[in-house]
Amino acid sequence: MALSRREFVQASAGAGTALGSLVGLGLSLKPATARAQTLRIQEAKATPSVCPYCSVGCATIVHTIEGEIVNIEGDPRSPHNEGCLCPKGAAIYQLHKNPNRATKVLHRRPGATEWEEVDLDWAMDRVAELVQRTRDETFVERLSDGTLVNHTTAIFSLGGATLDNEWNHLQQKLMRGLGIVAIENQARI
Ligand code: SF4
Repeated sequence: MALSRREFVQASAGAGTALGSLVGLGLSLKPATARAQTLRIQEAKATPSVCPYCSVGCATIVHTIEGEIVNIEGDPRSPHNEGCLCPKGAAIYQLHKNPNRATKVLHRRPGATEWEEVDLDWAMDRVAELVQRTRDETFVERLSDGTLVNHTTAIFSLGGATLDNEWNHLQQKLMRGLGIVAIENQARI
């Protein structure tokens, strides 16, 4: 579409609305967006992979440059997702590259108002100790009518959005092995 100088200035007035105005005038940004994307992955190595988040198993292509992930997108060759990813799958890249991602263990002691960084090994031991203590104190082998249950209802396991299939499989095996019956995961919410 050809724009006159006047139309261009009118459309561009106000930085916050400039792009929307250009689109509103019928200017397609698709070619520019596609070109920027092509340049970003031009030198990248493309590796076929699978989204880790759910059992749909959408196919992805992971682009890397010198071992660094620079892009992840749906694989159009896949017969079932045909290049599409749901919003969660479309954000897989942010699982790898995200300045907001927590990379240290934080702990808030009972009564404290501030979080403090702690060692991962200390945190793992602390979680194991509390789980064992709670389970030992609350484990029920049989109900009052004699029904065998071997469970504790005092511990609840809630999975988060970034837990993948394999982690969830191991998590529920561990929880059920301990007799924990309250198990939920974000993927069902
Ligand atoms: S989370 Fe979304 S993108 Fe990933 S496998 Fe499931 S449906 Fe596909």
